[in-house]
Amino acid sequence: MPRLSQPLLVIQDQHFLQHDTGPDHPEGSWRLTAIAQRLRTGLLADRVAIFPSRSARRQELTAIHDENYLLRFEEAALTGRSYLDHPDNQICYDSYQAALLAAGAGPAAIDLLEARQGCAAFAAVRPPGHHAERAMALGFCFFNNAAVAARYWQNRYQRRRLMIIDWDAHHGNGIQAAFEEDPEVFYLSIHEHPTWSFPGTGWGEERGSGSGRGTTLNLPLPPGSDDAAVLRLVSEKVEPALAQFQPQALIIGAGFDGHRDDDMSGLAYSSQLYGRLGRLAASWAGRYCPGRLLTLLEGGYRPDILPLTVENYLAGLLAEQPPTTDSQTDSNQQREMP
Ligand SMILES: [Zn+2]
Repeated sequence: MPRLSQPLLVIQDQHFLQHDTGPDHPEGSWRLTAIAQRLRTGLLADRVAIFPSRSARRQELTAIHDENYLLRFEEAALTGRSYLDHPDNQICYDSYQAALLAAGAGPAAIDLLEARQGCAAFAAVRPPGHHAERAMALGFCFFNNAAVAARYWQNRYQRRRLMIIDWDAHHGNGIQAAFEEDPEVFYLSIHEHPTWSFPGTGWGEERGSGSGRGTTLNLPLPPGSDDAAVLRLVSEKVEPALAQFQPQALIIGAGFDGHRDDDMSGLAYSSQLYGRLGRLAASWAGRYCPGRLLTLLEGGYRPDILPLTVENYLAGLLAEQPPTTDSQTDSNQQREMP
């Protein structure tokens, strides 16, 4: 039977906007407002299905974070502290609740994917997550959304071999730390070289430890690196790693701050690169783990660039999905035959 086209699942939640970082902070609520507006009115309006998030549950969070850290964060928010651990990490009264919802977005999306409600999922969350450590906020991140999602996928659905591919401009130190001794979760990051870039981790020599040795792969790029540099790494390093590891589910840490006009990094990616990355992610999922592709928003700080690059990425994802007309559905079915 021909497979019918499925929508792209998008997790959006107005409560993410209540995490108020102040008027001058780059990680502001405008980021999600701009993405939502673009998805509502742009090219993809009739291809996406929007769902709300849910709060991450206690045990989902404590699979990654210390219980005491949860208490410390909640207390800081509720007692009116202006930041947690470093002034970069601005908080308000509602930040703890917003962060719970951001961490629950991955599990919410995974439930929908496993119920075959969509071809892939994109969680448009804030606060972002990949810098958050077990017991410390860092780089605008409080809970490690991608790490929480990975453990949930393993524990709830027994998808043991997970690959997290993080192409935010910055190294996802928190994701790496969560899984560096774990041979079942492969963390692969393409980022600006730590010599020039926050947070100073993600050297090529960091390959994991203990039984997790070899399932961490850092691919740092010098400032000024462009699309060609990324695509070269994809064919020389990323695709061989995928072929060897054979993931049962794929999580993409999608940061859009490597764009050449985003001054949060010195990388020089074009807007079109994100469309290519979307097509690539969809093709990898199609090959190794059909229907199990979750993308989580990380960075991206230019108001005029972020919604466009997100749309390009999602259009790339959808370009590799089953199309809608009967004739195309037939040809697609043929393409999927072994
Ligand atoms: Zn970043």
